[in-house]
Amino acid sequence: MTPPKADPNLAQRLLDGDRRALARAISLVEDDRPEGWELVREVYPHTGRAAVFGFTGPPGVGKSTLIGALTKARREAGRTVGVLSIDPSSPFTHGALLGDRIRLSEHFLDQGVFIRSMANRGALGGLSEAALQAALLLDAAGRDDVFVETVGVGQAEIDIIDHADTIVLVLMPGSGDSIQALKAGVMEIPDVIVINKADHPLTDTMVREIRGVLSLANLDHTEGDGGPARPRWRVPIVRTEASNGKGVAELVERLEEHRAHILAAGQLAERRGRNLRNEVLAIAAARMRRRLEEDLREDPDFQRLLSEVVERRLDPASAATALLERASEP
Ligand code: GDP
Repeated sequence: MTPPKADPNLAQRLLDGDRRALARAISLVEDDRPEGWELVREVYPHTGRAAVFGFTGPPGVGKSTLIGALTKARREAGRTVGVLSIDPSSPFTHGALLGDRIRLSEHFLDQGVFIRSMANRGALGGLSEAALQAALLLDAAGRDDVFVETVGVGQAEIDIIDHADTIVLVLMPGSGDSIQALKAGVMEIPDVIVINKADHPLTDTMVREIRGVLSLANLDHTEGDGGPARPRWRVPIVRTEASNGKGVAELVERLEEHRAHILAAGQLAERRGRNLRNEVLAIAAARMRRRLEEDLREDPDFQRLLSEVVERRLDPASAATALLERASEP
């Protein structure tokens, strides 16, 4: 691959919605290139307009198929769509998975749809930061709806999906592990739950089981404690058959309702504020760690400290304290 050259017009082309500019821009942030960060800095004031939806759930439940169906519905409503498919566990880069896993081929020629998969971990702070930057670029390029999809339900996936305005958990009858994760509080309660492949005979059982988990979660989960009373969001459970489009219109309605709810209650701004705070801290922490590692690489005092820990003369926490005390010395 030829290294991307600095393109003075890239920001403008991106803001004009040019798909090739968008593809180039996302590659720059994915590869953690300074031009990528520069570009995000330039276009950031133009972001904040897109509605960002995050989809998570075990592999094979039909997330990609569902996003394909939603894309179709949103296009029919005259909206432009951006899709980011993120795979923290994949060693592949730059769209190698496209068309292979994402069942969105019917949209490839539509200028109103931009689809991209990302797996690189090159970006400062990791894939989660790169994914957020990419979502910002899609937003700046004027996409009305941005769908972010992760392939699994691990912590890395949750970190990525957390940046969305609306979080959708996709399950299918029989995928009991995710219900366990919800029950155990490993996963926060999503905004919308989809049971895809709902023609399966076990669908009703699964819906009941999830209702049970949700009502338990509601008991020890009072929204906005202390603050002004707010209308409460009841997590809807939507049954879909993504492959034939059944239930997709209802899902679109629930997604719109959720957006209206968080807008009305001021929660969209609050959510975004919280996510951006986490984002700033994540990038700062990643940079501090990188700086610390660089500073300590050849440091004999640090090596001595480490040997003491290895020889069990000093415990790790005391070593860290010593390290930080030294680092904060003028
Ligand atoms: P992902 O890994 O969650 O993105 O799942 P995919 O979208 O790749 O779908 C996995 C498989 O399930 C594919 O073969 C789809 O065609 C199929 N599939 C998706 N939705 C449905 C559905 O509603 N019913 C049935 N029977 N199959 C579906």
